[in-house]
Amino acid sequence: MTGKDNGLNRRTFLRTGLTGLAALGAAPGLAKATTPGPAGTAQDAGAAGAKPIVRTLGKTGLRIPVVSMGVMNADNPAVVRAALDAGITFLDTAHGYQRGRNEEMIGQVIAGRPRDSYMIATKVPGPQRDRTLQGLSGEPLQKAFLDMFDTSLKRLGLGHVEILYLHNNSAPEHVQNPDMIEALQKAKKAGKCRFTGITTHSNEPAVIRATTGTKAYDVILTAYNFKQDHREEVRAAVAEAAAAGLGIVAMKTQAGAYWDKEKQQKINMRAALKWVLNDANVTTAIPGFTTFDQLKEDFSVVTDITLTPEDLADLRLGEQAAGLYCQQCGQCVPGCPKGLPIPDLMRSYMYAYGYRNLQAAHELVASLGVEAEPCGSCESCTAVCVKGFDVANRVRDISRLRAVPGDFFA
Ligand code: SF4
Ligand code: SF4
Repeated sequence: MTGKDNGLNRRTFLRTGLTGLAALGAAPGLAKATTPGPAGTAQDAGAAGAKPIVRTLGKTGLRIPVVSMGVMNADNPAVVRAALDAGITFLDTAHGYQRGRNEEMIGQVIAGRPRDSYMIATKVPGPQRDRTLQGLSGEPLQKAFLDMFDTSLKRLGLGHVEILYLHNNSAPEHVQNPDMIEALQKAKKAGKCRFTGITTHSNEPAVIRATTGTKAYDVILTAYNFKQDHREEVRAAVAEAAAAGLGIVAMKTQAGAYWDKEKQQKINMRAALKWVLNDANVTTAIPGFTTFDQLKEDFSVVTDITLTPEDLADLRLGEQAAGLYCQQCGQCVPGCPKGLPIPDLMRSYMYAYGYRNLQAAHELVASLGVEAEPCGSCESCTAVCVKGFDVANRVRDISRLRAVPGDFFA
């Protein structure tokens, strides 16, 4: 189906879309970086003269500044270049980001730079997340997974990455999958990754503990932020993993970036970063900045993670403020008679309204197989969110992306 077929084109979508894309201020595609001015220089990105805080990533021994870059939402190579020039050394990407263009962009940025001046982590999904792998097992599954990883290396222009993650795990059995463990070990033995790990942003404590229990991984990339109701459980699981020698990288640290969809109330990014980095078991965080100003703001934390009383007040820790971040707890799901994948839809909602990454939002919605109007004639929403989200409204809003052609945001 094309935009024309369904009476929808870019113009009408921007004008009439319930998703309020026009209100997002977003051009189709990703949020655009601002022009580099004085704030976009390497010298300005960190506090002048102050030493960056560097930590060791568990038993890998990798030494990384506490602020790294999650490149997922960035589409301006100049911002990535400025991050490296500023002193960021660790870039996080994934096989699926921007349909591979994210890895290609990083490949262009790092081309010609000394190989020991940066570290790269990428992620490949297993059968728990990638439909093309479902139904496979044994050698065919491992080969398909490793072929995807080879494609990632090619896009990056590298012979190896520092970390290869099994991406997006929400249950212990995902990280315990013997085929995935073996495939990762094969990549390591072939010298294509120095270390292996897993990522999780749902059911994190159980996944972290299962990962630790396998003794098969080196690094865990986990969602970890001040808005999680279960943050103390995450903290405890992270402590156990770190004690076992695993390196811990934190993501989703800024919890959706805004308190509101209208983007009138920005979350205090520095405070959010400092909050997670005050857990000494976290080696580094990977905020997904996309502009030079955001780089400057996030990277300024690298020299000082002191949480001030003002920072703590800004984080509203005692409040149940809804915001845009869905903690993926799944407590709303049993209340929906249609069994909709509400946590994933809420994550897509955050990508759209918090990160302004409409392509990622679209791809996630499309991957879920939901209809454009999944709530249909359901008159009264019985899916109650513990964080106070208006679930039906958000589901209806974000699901409209389903009607948009796949290449609309490319
Ligand atoms: S309105 Fe939508 S999300 Fe709510 S219960 Fe009905 S189908 Fe589920
Ligand atoms: S929508 Fe609310 S209840 Fe449902 S998974 Fe997200 S935070 Fe949990």
